[in-house]
Formats: sequence, structure tokens, C-alpha cells
Amino acid sequence: MWPRWNDYTSALEKSYGGRVYRIGVDGGFSCPHRDEYRGGGCMFCDSYGAVSVYQRTDERDFTRNSPFSRDIEQFRTKERVGSIDDRIASVQQQIARGHEFLDTRYPGTFRSIYFQSYTNTFDSIDHLSALYDAALDTGTYTELIISTRPDCLPDRVVSLLSGYRDRVKSVWVELGLQSGNEVSLKYLRRGHTVDHYRRSIEALHAEGISVCAHLMLGLPTEGDEEILKTAQLIRETQPEAIKIHNLHIVAGTPLYEMYERGEVEAPEMAEHIYNTILLLRHIDAHIVIQRLVSDTPRHRLASPRDFPDKTTFLHALDRVMGEQGSVQGDRVNV
Ligand code: SF4
Repeated sequence: MWPRWNDYTSALEKSYGGRVYRIGVDGGFSCPHRDEYRGGGCMFCDSYGAVSVYQRTDERDFTRNSPFSRDIEQFRTKERVGSIDDRIASVQQQIARGHEFLDTRYPGTFRSIYFQSYTNTFDSIDHLSALYDAALDTGTYTELIISTRPDCLPDRVVSLLSGYRDRVKSVWVELGLQSGNEVSLKYLRRGHTVDHYRRSIEALHAEGISVCAHLMLGLPTEGDEEILKTAQLIRETQPEAIKIHNLHIVAGTPLYEMYERGEVEAPEMAEHIYNTILLLRHIDAHIVIQRLVSDTPRHRLASPRDFPDKTTFLHALDRVMGEQGSVQGDRVNV
């Protein structure tokens, strides 16, 4: 039995009858939480990490073996919000590049549009609809996926998103939750509460929009009890999918400053396997697992340095679950 969780590739194939690939888009959005008056950003945010790996054209020369570099200035995102016309043109260029790449690598596959970078609902309704429309006008897409914060989804934005259900097979919102524990949200300086998440997922579900909740494991504020509390929140709110990230300490973040002072460490693989299994066993088997590890370019990753590549991790996770005889959801209702 491989894998022992509800994996994303199989879920997409089951839903749409074929392989589906995302085209990640940077719509030139900003983030309300990075403004120093609003909180100065999350502890783990380096202002560049929110940009998809695929779009980091100035980092293409770096490989998995590249050494860690403290010098992040060379990767700093330039000016964020340009004119709406420039942003539309940029979105359409990025999508064209995405198709070019996928046509070469995975010809004949389905495609989805993924507004990924920063907070993709943080703008006027006119700008949001102009950008989403411009993206969808470039072709035929399976899903429209919008990544955002739980406190940045007013009703008018939820209604706008719901309207796109006529143009794609599913509309998804990826909600950065990170943890079901208020103490951890404060530690991460997320600037939102668990209640923001509860209210936003309820509003999205009421409009027929699917939700993928982002979670972070390995926080210094969390042990088994806290991970189980996050699992309980997932069971109660029933997102259609989750993404799990292992804590990464990245140059240029407040977390990195703590790391330099010896105040925090990121868990290595064995601990992430333990935490992941604990969470997976306590959430429903039908929730799709879209991701199980973080994906930070090695040259910007201070810790953990010895974490293996994704494939090695997934096989190790599956092996440990096999040895235990555990599967996703087997501790729900026990
Ligand atoms: S919400 Fe996202 S973009 Fe904004 S500060 Fe946090 S991690 Fe960075």
C-alpha cells in the first residue's frame, strides 16, 4: 500500500481523470501583514519565500548542493505593486512561460492557475477581478487556486471567487493557518487568530469553494498535545486538503535572528516524520495531503541543513508508517 496517506496526485487524477499541473503566478500583490504598523510580517517570512520557486528566475543557478548564503539582499523582491496594466501583462507572460515549460515536460496534461505569492486577495475588487480574469482568459483551466491569509477574505471577495466556479471545475483557496494553537500563532507573529480561520473556511464552504489549510510542524511552542489540537481543528472545520510544512529557518527572517542567537532550531527528518504521522493519523482519511515538506532553496536555508530531498523523505515516512501499521485517519474516532 503506497502511500499511506491520501496523496494529491492520485486525488487529482480521481477528480479530473488525468494529470493536472499548476501554473504558479505572482500577481504583484503585497501583504497587509508585512506593513510594520500591522505587525511587520510573520517570523518565517523573508519577503521572497512567498514567491514560487518556479518564478525565481534570478536563482536558477543555485542547486541542491549550493552552500547556505546569509547574503539575501541579492534575492530581495524588487518593487511589489506596479500598475494594474503591468501586473496583468506580467501575469499573462508568466502563464505563457508556464505553458511552454509544461508543454515540453508534460504535454497533453490539464492545467490550473495558482495565484501563489504573498496575499492574493489583498487589493480592490476591481483589481482582483482584472487579474483573475486576465489569467483565466489565457486558456482552459481545471482549477483556480488563490492563496491568502485567513483575515483577508471579506464577503465581497468570497462572492467574487465563487463567481469563478462557472469558468473552472473548482475554485480553491489556500489558507495560511499554520497551527490550531493561539500561542503558536502569536509565536509566529501571524497576526490572525484561530477564529479568523474558522470564520473564513465557513464562509468559503458556504459559497462552494474548496479549502487547503497550510500547517507548520516542528514549532518550538508545540509538542504532541498541540499537534493533536491542530488535528482536532482540522477535523472540526473539514478543509478539503492540507499542506504540511516542516519548520524552516531562512536567512533574512526574524526567526533566523533567533537562530543566530541559539534560541531556536528546526527539527531534522526523524522528528518531522514523528510529527507528521501524529497529525495524519488524527485527521480524516478523505482529506487530501497536498504537501508534506517545505521547499526552500538550499542556499537560503539555514536550518535544517541535513534534511534529505522530498522523495527520500516520502519513502522514509511511508516506511515508518508501514512498520507501525498506521495510515491516515486510523486514530479518528478511536
Ligand atoms: S502572511 Fe505570508 S506574505 Fe504575509 S508576512 Fe506572513 S508569510 Fe509573509
